[in-house]
Amino acid sequence: MKRSIAIFCILSLSQWSCGQKSPNSTDPIAIGLIQKRIEMSEKTDGEWRNKLTPEQYRVLREKGTERPFSGQFNDHDEKGVYTCAGCGHELFRSDDKFDAHCGWPSFSKPENNDNIVAHEDNTLGMSRTEIICANCGGHLGHVFNDGPAPTGLRYCINSVSLGFSPTDAPKPDK
Ligand code: FE
Repeated sequence: MKRSIAIFCILSLSQWSCGQKSPNSTDPIAIGLIQKRIEMSEKTDGEWRNKLTPEQYRVLREKGTERPFSGQFNDHDEKGVYTCAGCGHELFRSDDKFDAHCGWPSFSKPENNDNIVAHEDNTLGMSRTEIICANCGGHLGHVFNDGPAPTGLRYCINSVSLGFSPTDAPKPDK
């Protein structure tokens, strides 16, 4: 049995730094302006601890951050799809990955806007936009408005929050 938890995220434009463009329906950042309903599995804290490694649990469930330049996907350039390490949900494509020299895997856009949810994060004395998996609510990282054209966005994601499926991976047996 699953429990549905509705999380409604409204991002205030006033929280954005100078130079931020007004969000519109094609801008990934605009998803923060749309009410989002997140289906979260009814995993207990103990079940999450059993499923995830201690580092995955710290980042995905406790909103931690891995050390810069330490993650397995920071210098990773294989073609394929990056998934959520918590639930397997597809999140980002390798074609949208770029080297931001920041120490974490960076993407200019998600695989699909519906696969992630953005919301305001004012912790640690900073005003940022946190990105979480729309399927399991796991913490992925943050999005910043200093990315490359055409989106101008940088989704700065913890490697430990991600899995990876190569484009040429063999199809699983049915
Ligand atoms: Fe997930």
